[in-house]
Amino acid sequence: MNKPVYFDYAAATPLDPRVAKAMQPYWAQSYYNPSALYEPARRTREALETARHSVAQVLGAKPGEIILTAGATEANNLALFGIASRHEKSTLVASAIEHESVLEPLQYLNRLGWKTKLVPVRPNGLVDLAALEKAINDQTALVSVMYANNEVGTIQPLSKIAQILNRIKANRRRRGVKRPLYFHSDAAQAPNYLTLQVGRLGVDLMTLNGGKIYGPKQSGCLYIKGGVELGWYILGGGQEKGIRSGTENVPGIIGFAKALELAEGLRVQESRRLRQLRDYAIDSTIKTIANVRLNGDHKQRLPNNINLSIEGVNGESLVHHLDAAGILVATGSACSANNEKSSHVLLALGLKPRQVNSSVRITLGRHTTKPQVDRLIKELKRAVKFLRAQNQGE
Ligand code: PLP
Repeated sequence: MNKPVYFDYAAATPLDPRVAKAMQPYWAQSYYNPSALYEPARRTREALETARHSVAQVLGAKPGEIILTAGATEANNLALFGIASRHEKSTLVASAIEHESVLEPLQYLNRLGWKTKLVPVRPNGLVDLAALEKAINDQTALVSVMYANNEVGTIQPLSKIAQILNRIKANRRRRGVKRPLYFHSDAAQAPNYLTLQVGRLGVDLMTLNGGKIYGPKQSGCLYIKGGVELGWYILGGGQEKGIRSGTENVPGIIGFAKALELAEGLRVQESRRLRQLRDYAIDSTIKTIANVRLNGDHKQRLPNNINLSIEGVNGESLVHHLDAAGILVATGSACSANNEKSSHVLLALGLKPRQVNSSVRITLGRHTTKPQVDRLIKELKRAVKFLRAQNQGE
């Protein structure tokens, strides 16, 4: 059988060999604790700080504004708990389609007494800006809206949101309201395709993830704009400004910085290449398979994302069927039998449970080629035909 073809780049990306090479010396050679005082450890510290500098450069930020974390889940938790602990009795606002690593901390904070509000999205997956503005009151300390959604690839207008927040802040200042208002964005899915210049985006806090950019898993960072104060998240030896203690994951950090630098260099050409492949795959699928709908906005969409609802087919069965045919894709919904576990993102877009349960997510990446996409279309057509016939026979 042919080697399986991978179409789940939104879930994980293979390590770039250039990243592996950059990390290699920091396992068994320069393994020193960067806080130690002797010369070899000081050089390890230097390498770590050079990596932080390189991350900051891609963001147009200062090195001191980068807190290195073990992935995006941790960075999101740090942003939410860090702001919440500094602003008790405040209100925290987020979009309804955030990743669980934003939604779960919000639910927990809500149980502890913080007010939380989830802002609806339009049927195309874009945040309803009027509803967002309405959700913010004088108690709101944080607004969290993801840059690009991991399920439907919808790209949110961060700079427009920042403008709204700036207007609200100016109004607060005029009225002498002291409560600060911060803007956080989970940009875990963004770096391969979108600019990360924090000044242009207007964010105060931004989450990044090495595992989605051909770097190591459990690496990433939280950008924290100078002057924004966060409470501690992990107590211990005082690393990362005392916010996130623990001996630094030097190989992971070096790998993350290298992966981010490579992603930034490739993103314009990769966006162009993948947009073409994506649109070819979408058009061919819609042309050859009846009753297929594309979920999420068609234009404001990551160049690598295809999310389809295919009528008369169960998403999970389709994933297993394609797996057997050597095509690796993801479901749009976590569970087909239990609506409580169905994708909160697709439900927020207004899809009916039946459409949610018939969804698949196909994400392309650096190694995706036209012949691979052709194989995907062929196998998808075959699998849908089989499953629809099976469903009719039941
Ligand atoms: N945020 C988004 C948008 C994601 O897509 C993911 C991963 O799927 C995460 C956060 C969490 O990343 P990790 O599990 O690597 O910490």
